[in-house]
Amino acid sequence: MTSQNQPNLRLPGPVPLPDDILKLAGSQMINHRGPEYADMLEKMSANLKTVFMTNNDVYFITSSGTGAMEAAIVNTISPGDKILSIIIGVFGERFAEIAEAYGGDVTTLNFDLGQAADLDQIRETLREISNVKAVIFTHNESSTGVSNPLEEICNVVHEESEALILVDAVSSAGGVPIAVDAWGIDVVATASQKSWISPPGIAMITFSKKAWEAHQKSTSPKYYLDVQQYEDYLQIGQPPFTPCLSVMFTLEIALKSMVDEGIENVFARHHQIAQHTRDGAKALGLELLPDPRFASNTVTAIKLPEEVDGKEFLSRVIKNHNVILGGGQKSLTGKIFRIGHMGWVEKSHIDEALAAAEDTLKTMTS
Ligand code: PMP
Repeated sequence: MTSQNQPNLRLPGPVPLPDDILKLAGSQMINHRGPEYADMLEKMSANLKTVFMTNNDVYFITSSGTGAMEAAIVNTISPGDKILSIIIGVFGERFAEIAEAYGGDVTTLNFDLGQAADLDQIRETLREISNVKAVIFTHNESSTGVSNPLEEICNVVHEESEALILVDAVSSAGGVPIAVDAWGIDVVATASQKSWISPPGIAMITFSKKAWEAHQKSTSPKYYLDVQQYEDYLQIGQPPFTPCLSVMFTLEIALKSMVDEGIENVFARHHQIAQHTRDGAKALGLELLPDPRFASNTVTAIKLPEEVDGKEFLSRVIKNHNVILGGGQKSLTGKIFRIGHMGWVEKSHIDEALAAAEDTLKTMTS
């Protein structure tokens, strides 16, 4: 339970934290080159592999999620490599920008906001471009509340190419199943402030054998994000650089609690609360942005009635109800609001957020 009078923080990350986790973030520091850290790292790696259903290597990097996306790129591609970037919203655009910044020869495949990627179009594009080195995309597009059909996309990529699959799963991993080995995903990037019930500060990646082969050939400049550094130090139970210990403390316990609960149960819980949120929004007469077939289980994007000023709406919801909702980003600014429901979330949190939205909209619509 959180402390009294805290706002109901319903962003799609950073997520609110229960008091027992918050306390851990305030724990005394330890020697990150001592046995206590080595023990913690070993347990965390094992639990992270369980959540990702993988035997691939996993690494903890002190950075936000964007750092993990950059790690996916710099460790596998070289300038001039052909990259297919599938874009369904602002985070897909970001992934393409990172690949371009490192000299990738990026082809973008864009889909309408609210839609998931179309499998036939991905297939056609892979047939048109030969020797694609990597296919990069967002699993769960936090800006539109859409979840791409990850397994199906992976199948198409494997059927049509030898390309690496690099996935931004920043806002899905930990709340939604990602079978890294079964689906043949080379790098998955995520971050602590999302479904992992922790503060921001630690990014996590999975790294496949095929990704390691690409790493040997990759000439992209890298130092802090070079997975070789993380791997070498992992062998001696240490981080290559001073880690964000406070977040490692919370993440250790959050990961353990997820595995103890059973990851299937964690995923089912996310599905249920997402359905509750979607049903609740629809019951208020509101329209959801995403195509219902691809609605996200970690964040719901809801259209605002046209006459409503989105900025004013968000500020009234905070001022009058102590609820913090997510707004729209870029071209969706002022047009939608978003409710995050990942990590630690109860039905009452969602009901309160929806009631706040309902009450506020009543005062803003005729
Ligand atoms: N990808 C997705 C899907 C996200 O939701 C976010 C964060 N909202 C990011 C990438 C970027 O993560 P960060 O802000 O931690 O760098």
